[in-house]
Amino acid sequence: MIGGMTAIAGQTRDETQPIRCPACAAAMEPVPFGGVTVERCTACRGLWFDAREQERLRDLPGAEAIDLGVPPAGPAAVVPPAKRQCPVCHTAMIGMADHRQPHLHFESCTVCYGAFFDAGEFRDYKEVTLAESVRRLFGLRKK
Ligand SMILES: [Zn+2]
Ligand SMILES: [Zn+2]
Repeated sequence: MIGGMTAIAGQTRDETQPIRCPACAAAMEPVPFGGVTVERCTACRGLWFDAREQERLRDLPGAEAIDLGVPPAGPAAVVPPAKRQCPVCHTAMIGMADHRQPHLHFESCTVCYGAFFDAGEFRDYKEVTLAESVRRLFGLRKK
């Protein structure tokens, strides 16, 4: 890491350059938390994580505060998940599921490893892990 730049798979993203939300194309704003800066959409409140930042934040207590949930007005006009492009390198993103949380889907870029979570999904990603481990323990897995 070199002040303000995040190293990503052979390229760097200048974090001072604003990016556009892959779901609704609105501007995203930087949200610093625990030494990591994520981008949050000012319209649909989706969250963008540069290379694996979501994994670092998942383990940080209180990090769910960055996810404000779905806006009261409901999500803005949203690009379907299958058509979303990486806002950093413009590659088509692929749907990902965490093996510990099979119900949860987020989009990830196979080039820069960035990830996009719809509003509310990060909170889920962070909080449901424990509940699902317990459920698995008792053999009561969700679908
Ligand atoms: Zn958005
Ligand atoms: Zn990318």
